[in-house]
Amino acid sequence: MILISACLAGFNCKYNAKNNFNASIEELVKNKIAVPICPEQAGGMPTPRVPAEILGGDGLDVIEGRARVITSEGEDVTLKFFEGAKEALKLAKLVGANKAILKSRSPSCGCCKIYDGTFKGVLRAGMGVSAAYLLKHGIEVIDSDEFIKK
Ligand code: SF4
Repeated sequence: MILISACLAGFNCKYNAKNNFNASIEELVKNKIAVPICPEQAGGMPTPRVPAEILGGDGLDVIEGRARVITSEGEDVTLKFFEGAKEALKLAKLVGANKAILKSRSPSCGCCKIYDGTFKGVLRAGMGVSAAYLLKHGIEVIDSDEFIKK
């Protein structure tokens, strides 16, 4: 079983209430080999919502208390992102998922690169909060751009 970012399966769970639909990801769900989750919604963030980025590090730094998740309006939403990561791991354990295909560049789901906290569209190396949390707990995380390219 595979965990996937819900926006990739067409759920309108992005910050702007849109999605990142991809037909090959939807196929995985239809074939019952993937289960969608949006960690930000699961952690209690509303939709639509003010966009957030990680300030001072990446998702691993957030988990270890060295960085925070801040919205573009300056609200600290670190705890909600952390809660969402825990819910994602709960679902992974429930369905026996040992890998996750996660949306590139998201402050929750990004696996390789994320935005740098300046809200200027600048990318930096690093993972989102849920990606880092899942990886830390033994789930293989796969960047959606890499998966879709194959
Ligand atoms: S948190 Fe993940 S699943 Fe939810 S909208 Fe962002 S990238 Fe998609």
